[in-house]
Amino acid sequence: MDNQSPQLIACHDCDLLQQEIPLKPGCSASCSRCGAILYRNATDSINRTLAYTLAASVLFVIANIFPIFAIEVQGGGSEINLSGAVRYLWNQQMKSVSLLVVLTTILIPALELVTMSYLLLALKLRRIPAGYPILLRMINIVGPWGMIEVFMLGILVSLVKLTSSFKVIPGVALWSFGVLTFLYAATSASFSARDVWAHLGKKPGVETAA
Ligand SMILES: [Zn+2]
Repeated sequence: MDNQSPQLIACHDCDLLQQEIPLKPGCSASCSRCGAILYRNATDSINRTLAYTLAASVLFVIANIFPIFAIEVQGGGSEINLSGAVRYLWNQQMKSVSLLVVLTTILIPALELVTMSYLLLALKLRRIPAGYPILLRMINIVGPWGMIEVFMLGILVSLVKLTSSFKVIPGVALWSFGVLTFLYAATSASFSARDVWAHLGKKPGVETAA
């Protein structure tokens, strides 16, 4: 690897090849032809994304275990958590909706949070994460399919409808989902695969990004 040779970058929008230049922290480089953002010099992106990811992981576990809300009816009440909601949808012959919730609200966010925690923790500890090319590609592919915010919106609509007939008590998982929606978005926004590649490129014997 020759660190002295100029790095070329292709514009995602118009394919124009341009030479990379070093940027001041917080600045971004735009394409000279179409003006699209080429790359940013995100300050402390690895540390920030790791903090968001770990906080989101804790909230994700809480959101999955504890009740989202409880309904009080005469003579008793019942609590609803995420797995209970999925089971209810399945039993109500809404199997495709149930599978969609499992995939977009549980499996994909879990996969993304675990993978990102592993990658970023390894980089933080100055290790080279095993299988990083596959993991980075996987984050890129599954990322858009994590839809916690859509689920959150669904819960809020259901709650508003339910309050007209029942006394609804918000649960711990509802607050967790609320904060998780923002943290999950912050994680995706601050994660920079380019920064991860740059960190990997600094270590001896590591292949550079294609
Ligand atoms: Zn361009």
